[in-house]
Amino acid sequence: MAKSKQQQLDDIAVQIVADKVCPELAEQATQLVFGDGNPDAKLVFIGEAPGKNEDLQGKPFVGAAGKFLDEMLASIGMKRKDVYITNIVKYRPPNNRDPEPEEKKAFLPYLQAQLEVIQPVMVATLGRHSLSCFLPDLQISKVHGEPKRIRLKFENRGDKGFPVIILPLFHPAAALYNGSMKATLMEDFVRVPAVLAAAQLIK
Ligand code: URA
Repeated sequence: MAKSKQQQLDDIAVQIVADKVCPELAEQATQLVFGDGNPDAKLVFIGEAPGKNEDLQGKPFVGAAGKFLDEMLASIGMKRKDVYITNIVKYRPPNNRDPEPEEKKAFLPYLQAQLEVIQPVMVATLGRHSLSCFLPDLQISKVHGEPKRIRLKFENRGDKGFPVIILPLFHPAAALYNGSMKATLMEDFVRVPAVLAAAQLIK
């Protein structure tokens, strides 16, 4: 019998551990924080890396930034079970430092595999690190809130990938401590349902 999407995602999480991805991060982390939500979701949110609460609970976006993300989802009539949430880097960097370029690169094939299983029509990137994995030449301060159509295809893969709409958003953790960024993120966020509906039409 064919594996369910959830089983395929579980296999990728097991593979990350078996492949010993970023062993220094793994050593200091409590656990792998792979992803959470609906494997059949049309919309995937991608953050940067787990923080302290995420590391302890094993789920992405469960701390202050996660609470804010939940509130923004509620403002558009959605819940976590309607979407899928993950990070680029899947172990907590010590002291919440920024992920290093090599760490992002090391986790990229697994993020691709995750997205290939889920097959979302839209990916909302949270923050500049996430945006740079998909559209490295764009600056979040310039393109936030503007949907971009790309073909999701990473290096080292011969296949053609699949089309996806990227919606660059500011990171909720950064926005929490910056009033104008918070207002901008909330304005951009209310456009999510319309962008998602349009993305589904052209898929
Ligand atoms: N910030 C992130 O980028 N990801 C999380 O999971 C939590 C905070």
